[in-house]
Amino acid sequence: MTIRPIIEVPDKRLKTVSQPVTEVTDDTRALMNDMLETMYDANGIGLAAIQIGVASRVIVMDISQRAQADSPPEEKAEEDAAEDIDLTGETGPRFFVNPEIVWVSEETNNYQEGCLSVPGFYDDVERPSQCRVAFLDYDGAAQELECDGLLATCIQHEMDHLEGIVFLDRLSRLKRQIVLKKIAKAERDAAGAK
Ligand SMILES: [Zn+2]
Repeated sequence: MTIRPIIEVPDKRLKTVSQPVTEVTDDTRALMNDMLETMYDANGIGLAAIQIGVASRVIVMDISQRAQADSPPEEKAEEDAAEDIDLTGETGPRFFVNPEIVWVSEETNNYQEGCLSVPGFYDDVERPSQCRVAFLDYDGAAQELECDGLLATCIQHEMDHLEGIVFLDRLSRLKRQIVLKKIAKAERDAAGAK
């Protein structure tokens, strides 16, 4: 497994609509393994392939990472090596190939979202609070999953990435502009410091 660089806004590749995977092969699994390691390394709970520059409809998630993501950064580094990843665990990693939302609840939920492609920024996004997703799993088998709570929020956030949508696009135009300016400034400052 390899940690790949994560693309950040305003990189235009994040606006790409990702293509369906025709068959889940060893190459697909190698991609998912890399994505998972990249996600763990960045202390994320979800990652879409386009975030590492691959325009395929593939998502990895592990919402049990949540607790870890909230602990201080210094304590995380060691355990993040994620040497032996359980590929089947209920609360462990989840893999979604060609996911489709087949149902959403009318009830909605506001959840403070963040994104590995928008580092250091969080804001509330309103989405359906439950959904059902059909997808192919790590072995290419068809599955359906009922999602609620953080799982529902996270899968919808990741599926937005497959359509070229970043959560900033769901905020007001003004908020989006402010964030993009802050990120551009941080980048300039970082470049100037070198
Ligand atoms: Zn994201």
